[in-house]
Amino acid sequence: MNILNAQCTEKPQYADHTGGVEHPSASDQSEYAGGVSCPSELQFKIPSGLMAICLPIFIGVLSWLLIPQAQADNVGSRHKAIFMILDGIPADVIERVATPNLDAIAAIGGYHRAEVGGPIGGPAETPTVSAPGYMSLVTGTWANKHNVYDNTQLAPNYDYWNLFRLAKAAEPPLKTGIFSTWTDNRTVLLGAGMASAGNLTIDFVADGFETDATGFPHEADDRQIQAIDRHVAEEAARTVTLEGPDLSWVYLQYTDDVAHAHGDSAAFDTAVEVMDQLVGTVWTAVQTRAAAQDEDWLILVTTDHGRDSETGRDHGGQSDRERITWITTNSERLNSRFHGQPTIVDIFPSIASHLGIPIPLPVAESLDGRSFID
Ligand SMILES: [Zn+2]
Repeated sequence: MNILNAQCTEKPQYADHTGGVEHPSASDQSEYAGGVSCPSELQFKIPSGLMAICLPIFIGVLSWLLIPQAQADNVGSRHKAIFMILDGIPADVIERVATPNLDAIAAIGGYHRAEVGGPIGGPAETPTVSAPGYMSLVTGTWANKHNVYDNTQLAPNYDYWNLFRLAKAAEPPLKTGIFSTWTDNRTVLLGAGMASAGNLTIDFVADGFETDATGFPHEADDRQIQAIDRHVAEEAARTVTLEGPDLSWVYLQYTDDVAHAHGDSAAFDTAVEVMDQLVGTVWTAVQTRAAAQDEDWLILVTTDHGRDSETGRDHGGQSDRERITWITTNSERLNSRFHGQPTIVDIFPSIASHLGIPIPLPVAESLDGRSFID
């Protein structure tokens, strides 16, 4: 099924956020399809149209009354979500190393082991590799759908919508941000700016630093990547504080570099501790923003794959240690799926649930995950 072309059908249907399917109410349909009626839906969608169509009826006072409501609707939702991927940290490592900031988040919501890699031996089996993991997260599908099996020669199947495209299909469209130590996350995996990926725009962007040899010159052990991670986290925190994007992705890389170089080691543990500090940078901004603006923020932190048991240097296979990951979140709406066997593809519907945005039926039907947030 070509989901791409199913965006605005005459009578779109929606799924609930647990992955099940329900039919929309009449009001839901008109909201998604951008249908025009007079006057309620015109309040924020096409104010000029409001004037043209409704002026004879709502001349004067009524149109004046509608304008403040229009502005209020465009301010954005009270529900916000930010997810962070910390590259390549197996569950046993995140559980052993001191991570006070992740612990503080989990104390509000929860921590649980999770799984990547898809069903072993079936068509949806997915390499425990970075880009396939990110795609599984942002599309809620395994590699046999999103078509990303490695970190190179990327050819995502954009028919499977990502979270950011879903956010832009909401009415009004959500504000989005990406803060990343790998530019391809935005330009290739999400397909920002590509017609085939829905001409997606990201409102707040901080990436591309890995090619900035002046700002981040190469250091021993690729330590410039850690400096970039820090800069990316600080940019995310600054943007959360000032702009409060409705949906944000923070991607931090250095733990994977250290583990590839040194395997299970003191250096890897130290890199994990630094990652936790960067989580704290973002988490502090989220808490401050939520309190100041009375917003309901979801933070979700996870990893894209584990590592091999023998050395900790490698990943990509289907061993337990490569497949078993983890999720930490502040959500207080966690259901039995979170406390059972959550997987990386559950994150898409879970974030949609927190944001309260509808999932068009063709997208919902393609999802391989179910929401762990009620
Ligand atoms: Zn990775």
